[in-house]
Amino acid sequence: MTTRKTTRSVIVIGSGIAGTTAAFRLRKAGHHVTLLEQESYPGGRMSSYEKAGEGGAYRIDRGASWLSHNYRPMIELLEETGLASRMLPCSSELGVLRDGRVHRLSFVRPTDLLRTGLLGWRSKLRALRLLRDLAAARPALSWNDMSKAAGIDIESAQEYALRRLDRPLLDHLVEPLCSTQFLAPADEVSAVGVLSIMWGTFGAASFTFDGGVGRLPTLLLGLPLMRSEQTCVELNARVNDVTRDRDGVKVTWERDGASSVERGDACVVAVPGPIAAGIVPSLTDDQRTYLTGLRYTSDVHVTFGLREATDETALGVAVPLREHPDLCVVLHEHNLGPGRAPAGHGLVSLMFRDHWSTARITLDDDTVIEDSLTAVNEVLPELAAHIGEQREMAAVQRWDRAVLARPAGGYRDLARFTSSLDPRSPIQLAGDYFAYSTTNASLATGETAAQRVAALLSAS
Ligand SMILES: Cc1cc2nc3c(=O)[nH]c(=O)nc-3n(C[C@H](O)[C@H](O)[C@H](O)COP(=O)(O)OP(=O)(O)OC[C@H]3O[C@@H](n4cnc5c(N)ncnc54)[C@H](O)[C@@H]3O)c2cc1C
Repeated sequence: MTTRKTTRSVIVIGSGIAGTTAAFRLRKAGHHVTLLEQESYPGGRMSSYEKAGEGGAYRIDRGASWLSHNYRPMIELLEETGLASRMLPCSSELGVLRDGRVHRLSFVRPTDLLRTGLLGWRSKLRALRLLRDLAAARPALSWNDMSKAAGIDIESAQEYALRRLDRPLLDHLVEPLCSTQFLAPADEVSAVGVLSIMWGTFGAASFTFDGGVGRLPTLLLGLPLMRSEQTCVELNARVNDVTRDRDGVKVTWERDGASSVERGDACVVAVPGPIAAGIVPSLTDDQRTYLTGLRYTSDVHVTFGLREATDETALGVAVPLREHPDLCVVLHEHNLGPGRAPAGHGLVSLMFRDHWSTARITLDDDTVIEDSLTAVNEVLPELAAHIGEQREMAAVQRWDRAVLARPAGGYRDLARFTSSLDPRSPIQLAGDYFAYSTTNASLATGETAAQRVAALLSAS
């Protein structure tokens, strides 16, 4: 076992966008930072990779693929670091399938809800209530800590839709939003989740980065500040234990069966909640129970590289539950901008509801690809035929913890959990489980954790 002693230093665990943001912020505050990441690449659920096709490379997002100008903490970080110049505009349209026809709504114009042929005029009038409820809920919604929403967390999205809206709005708007964002049906997620999606999604244009959204954590790690001797990034470094001792924090990690110990003055644990529960023994029983009980839905999705792009203009087409039980969204990722697919080629991902993915998480790629094509053929036969004719590449991505699907009452549980945490502890937690699963929420929680650690270190 090797032991490394560092002083006035901070260890960050996890190089997702929460961890890379925390690492950047702590370096900016003048601290030595060691970033430990179990995978061979940074970015976690916000990472991208290249896969060769006949006409060139496809750039594939492993998890997140869509970013919004509503993501204020992200935009502010991009502006502060000079990385805003790397943002690229992309399609801001979402399609919703109804009876075989795609109805397109612009993220930029929530008033499209009042114009769309997706809904009848009664439902459009009811949709005004949704916009009013969203305006009323805004003060309770926060990117870095959604526990303020506890007071309005009284029912599921389905109960809310049937009480305040109507059945068509549930079927054609609320349920597809729940499925595309949480991969879970409207009766299994809190109504706060739907208001959060509306808040985070509508009213602003989308953007992306050249080469995929995973460019952002990589760009952060590539900043001159992060390439100094004061930063150490260890990939393939799996952390098993984070404990407090008299000298600060001791982190035990392993690589290729060899164990190492890292010592620092403080630590940011930026991994999904259940993993944090397993590596931080100083958490109370209640905190551990909360974290291990968080419901993350799973995602198994298939991405196809196509010799010819589809003619869909929307970034994604949501497939409501009443249209198909398994398929929930088709992403036309070539609409994320040039460079995702070779010129003229297409990049399309098929995404499924949690139950479909859970049943396939351990199945081999060929079976998953075949099952995905069967599903798309049942509801969008023309797209299935296009994929069949034009396919030149297929890739399967698996996440056993993809996004958090918080049920009704989940924000009240979150409020109890966050109020039990010590903001002056040298071990701070960060991750999307403090808000609703988005890259921007994780980034914001990384900022908060780093601010707390920096305040602690400057006071001691
Ligand atoms: C399929 C999918 C689609 C999504 N779509 C979008 C979208 O379009 N837009 C959007 O904004 N958000 C989207 N999200 C959500 C978003 O990707 C996540 O909420 C966010 O990226 C999570 O960031 P994080 O840093 O909190 O966690 P993660 O990205 O999970 O980072 C945690 C990191 O910690 C590492 N780690 C875990 N355990 C250990 C350990 N013991 N030791 C060392 N390292 C460890 C992991 O390898 C990982 O790199 C999507 C997510 C998925 C899965």
